[in-house]
Amino acid sequence: MECIFCKIATKKIASKIVFEDDEYIAFNDIKPQAPVHVIIIPKKHIDSLNYIEKEDNALIGGLLNIAKKIAYDQGVSETGYRTVINCNKDAGQEVFHIHLHLIGGRKMSWPPG
Ligand code: 5GP
Ligand code: ZN
Repeated sequence: MECIFCKIATKKIASKIVFEDDEYIAFNDIKPQAPVHVIIIPKKHIDSLNYIEKEDNALIGGLLNIAKKIAYDQGVSETGYRTVINCNKDAGQEVFHIHLHLIGGRKMSWPPG
């Protein structure tokens, strides 16, 4: 069965899209943890960070470039933001299609919970 983020990428499931091009789509998290909480994914399905290959380097790096652009568009470039890729259960990964969280708009603590 197709994964939930593949379905978002192909518009079978609706989402609030904030950025899209041929390779990527970014949309608001359905359960935002901060005023800005965007999920950025490659349209190519990769289960998790454990499965990236060297040939994916540019694709994975591109997630950060998009995060930078969205952070600017949403006004958190100067105040600050966090980018997170959760991998497997200790990190709390729920959706097994690699994605970058862009979180901002409030003060965050470190270390993370
Ligand atoms: P993970 O825990 O895997 O790193 O993050 C998955 C994220 O995807 C969670 O923050 C969750 O709220 C979000 N999410 C799960 N299902 C959907 C959905 O159908 N639509 C949207 N917009 N976000 C989702
Ligand atoms: Zn997928």
